[in-house]
Amino acid sequence: MQAVPHALMHIDGKWIDSTDHYEVRSPATEELVATLARGGPEHADEAVAAAKAAFEEGTWRATPPAERAAVLRQAVNRLMQRSQELVEMQVRENGAPVRLAEPLHIGTSLAHLRYQVDLVERYCFERPSAMVSPVLAAGLIRREPIGVCAAIVPWNFPLVHAGWKVVPALAAGNSVVIKPDERAPLTVVELVRELEAAGLPPGVLNLVTGDGPQVGGRLVEHPDVRKINFTGSTRVGHDVVRRASGGFRHLTLELGGKSANIVLEDADVQTAVDGALFAAMAYSGQICAAGSRLLLPDALHDAFLARLIERVKTLRIADPLDPLTDIGPLISRDRRDHALACVSDARAQGARVVHGGGIPSGPRYAQGHWMEPTIVTEVTPDMRIAHEEVFGPVLAVMRYRTVDEAVEIANGTEYGLAAGVWSRDNQTALDLAARLEAGMVWINDWYALPPHFPLGGCKQSGIGRESGAHSLDEYTQEKAVSIDLSGGVEGKLYSLLLGAESP
Ligand code: NAD
Repeated sequence: MQAVPHALMHIDGKWIDSTDHYEVRSPATEELVATLARGGPEHADEAVAAAKAAFEEGTWRATPPAERAAVLRQAVNRLMQRSQELVEMQVRENGAPVRLAEPLHIGTSLAHLRYQVDLVERYCFERPSAMVSPVLAAGLIRREPIGVCAAIVPWNFPLVHAGWKVVPALAAGNSVVIKPDERAPLTVVELVRELEAAGLPPGVLNLVTGDGPQVGGRLVEHPDVRKINFTGSTRVGHDVVRRASGGFRHLTLELGGKSANIVLEDADVQTAVDGALFAAMAYSGQICAAGSRLLLPDALHDAFLARLIERVKTLRIADPLDPLTDIGPLISRDRRDHALACVSDARAQGARVVHGGGIPSGPRYAQGHWMEPTIVTEVTPDMRIAHEEVFGPVLAVMRYRTVDEAVEIANGTEYGLAAGVWSRDNQTALDLAARLEAGMVWINDWYALPPHFPLGGCKQSGIGRESGAHSLDEYTQEKAVSIDLSGGVEGKLYSLLLGAESP
């Protein structure tokens, strides 16, 4: 029998264990996948101290950007060579169906990492500014690293989120402490392993595994952490902001969503049906940008719904390692029970469950955290299911009469992460996109994530952006340096105070 792997923490260039351990169990079978060191606040403190010492010592930030890029590129190349292994690891720990994990969880992560590394060599770390009038002076605007960055990562796309945080932070010359979610840490451990092996100096990248409030909470309130990048729920995001408020820090928050998918009357119905299903059900709806609200015009409602129900019946709920599986398990029993409770509440509030709504029947589903893909109709904006993030395979269908009403419904939640528009008329769709409160809008598509697109939300979905062409801006701060070239006093501001007599 193969031994179960045990994952360690990485602090100041050393792999270390703790006296307490977690079990990582498959959400599909509840089998033991790995064990994991359970760190505490003292490990968070040690990691921040190591990161701070490495930053102050300065070897990494003094390394020329092209050499930093070469180290990062070596790690990304190694991860690419190991992509099949990473896919399997991902499926086992967080239950993503392999046909999704391969292109999205791992494929997209690696493509984005490669893009981020390529950016470093093109990034302008230093630029001259215009000559200053009336005094002859030259200016230099430098973009410098911020210091110790804390990166807190969720379980649903751990490698993507870890990479978006760690690679630009390191590329800019910062030191990092990363904390993955204890339910899905393994691909993050491999990212750290490959970066270390590529030649990062000790202390520049540290990994601490442990409870959210214990380790994550300590990291975000630590006075030596200068930048926090957190991805997770809006509820915890509020806690992060509270804890971080003891000092001034740079903050990027990527939080929850309740994204609206608006079908216009002129949409290509078959394409929109498939798109709506993918938006809501991919990875069992456990994606921050899931299209969990479908807004249908009265004129299309019944015909669209009939096709949607036909289509959802074809989804295969099975072992996520099986390449034919569409729907795998949810991450945990409590998340599944939460999703079921949201559906029950919707029913009690007058909505209709027209497909699914329960746990699939059969011996295969006795272990693991399964839920049927579920379609709920006659949903109105006042219902819990219309405004609360379910994070499960549940699509809330709502009707609208006019486009203005669709906009009002779409913008009517506290969230503002993503939105979608389906129309044959690009201009109409673009005009509607401009009215939607969302960080990302897809037109006739969903989850298109090219690496140069900035990702993030507005309102309670977060602040700041990740990924994209400007990701290094989030990990650098500007310093303005000006050099007087005139050699004299005339025209300078200080001559106003000292007067003409000054020597
Ligand atoms: P969560 O907020 O419970 O946990 C996320 C991470 O924060 C984990 O590593 C966890 O250990 C840590 N954490 C928990 N409590 C903490 C605390 N008090 N202080 C610091 N860190 C703490 O998130 P979840 O419910 O497990 O994940 C799903 C949520 O994440 C959903 O709301 C989803 O929308 C959101 N999410 C958002 C994005 C995005 O890009 N906007 C991406 C993925 C997931």
